[in-house]
Amino acid sequence: MSFITDDHEEFRSAVRKFTDEEIVPIAADIDSYKYPDIPQEIIKKMAEQGYFGVIFPEEYDGLGLDYITLSIVSEELSKGLLSVGSVMTRGILTGTLLLAHGTEDQKKRFLPGIATGELMTAAAFTEPDFGSDSGGMITKATKVDGGYILNGSKAWCTFANRANYLTVLARTDSDLTKRHKGLSIFMVEKEPGEDIIHPNIKGEPIPTVGYHGMKSYNLSLEDVFVPEENLIGTEENRGFYQLMETYEAARLQTAARAVGVAQAAFDFALQYSKEREQFGKPISEHQAIRMKLSEMATELEAARQLVYYAASMKDSGKRCDLEAGMAKIKSAKAGEYVTREAMQILGGYGYSKEFPVERFWRDARVISIFEGTSEIQHEVIAKSLLSK
Ligand SMILES: Cc1cc2nc3c(=O)[nH]c(=O)nc-3n(C[C@H](O)[C@H](O)[C@H](O)COP(=O)(O)OP(=O)(O)OC[C@H]3O[C@@H](n4cnc5c(N)ncnc54)[C@H](O)[C@@H]3O)c2cc1C
Repeated sequence: MSFITDDHEEFRSAVRKFTDEEIVPIAADIDSYKYPDIPQEIIKKMAEQGYFGVIFPEEYDGLGLDYITLSIVSEELSKGLLSVGSVMTRGILTGTLLLAHGTEDQKKRFLPGIATGELMTAAAFTEPDFGSDSGGMITKATKVDGGYILNGSKAWCTFANRANYLTVLARTDSDLTKRHKGLSIFMVEKEPGEDIIHPNIKGEPIPTVGYHGMKSYNLSLEDVFVPEENLIGTEENRGFYQLMETYEAARLQTAARAVGVAQAAFDFALQYSKEREQFGKPISEHQAIRMKLSEMATELEAARQLVYYAASMKDSGKRCDLEAGMAKIKSAKAGEYVTREAMQILGGYGYSKEFPVERFWRDARVISIFEGTSEIQHEVIAKSLLSK
């Protein structure tokens, strides 16, 4: 059974062309910090193609397409550079949150901007002492006249500098024993820029192994006022539940990003194996290399099909946290395995900065860590299986 229609393939061809023309030529320069972040010009061109609005309804200026199309777009852009395939992740997370749980006023205020790429968001969920254990988070939102005052620290807030809004998870019930039952989500407005621009928010980027093109920030929030109409939904203390329900969309998209990085590594290694000769023949004619290529292609295709399967479930309106978790685990593993083997096929050149394979390998490593670690995905899956 194939999940892919002719329309999907047509969309794929267009994104592939965009990636080849716009991203591939500057991917190495972005990776080596010749640009501080992904150039604004690229984001503008992605917006013109409608990539930020693939899954959002047309009434909110989106394309109104399906999650399979979103997976294809994410995969193809990530073939060029992981961070480019990741710019839209934040909008998907915040946009799906708003679509499912926002008030009509919030949908009207934020969704068209997110769908058209005019409004960038960044997710401020993780804290220095609470990552996987989001129920423990201590950033505080205190009710005041007309809104809330936020105080606390956030970690790893990716693209915080370039965002117009931070989507912040904060504690509205000060009783810490309430854990995940005391959290709410706020849209915190700020100015986008090269660094963090906000009178009450300070931040420093965290140096990372890969995923260059987007900086991830440690942030400190000190007496940040948020108007009450920027609490997502109408009720306090619903944040954790709102987030869990919409995480599956971001996890699916993340899994597709891993498939893209792995495919790029595979394509490069395949071509190299046909051109590189050792012992008088192309290395692709040595059995050990042939085995690698066939195993890499098999793992890659299995991961891709799991992504499409989870996306098709989401498209049919079903919850797919289990399947999105499986797709994320599988594609993270495939990403690490395929990029590692691609490096091996290139031998010494694989380890050099002259070729992009070492970048694919560095980038693939993060997939099992962000958007919920693989260990947490295993927990989610096991819980679901055992509860049946
Ligand atoms: C490059 C990058 C970008 C990121 N971008 C963002 C972002 O934009 N916004 C944001 O909010 N966060 C972001 N994150 C944070 C990311 O989501 C967290 O790193 C992740 O959730 C894990 O949290 P932690 O790092 O605190 O690890 P911890 O939660 O401390 O986990 C440490 C280890 O223990 C394991 N572990 C924890 N609990 C369990 C358990 N119950 N069972 C089994 N094993 C367990 C974990 O799997 C992990 O291996 C980013 C991270 C990175 C690296």
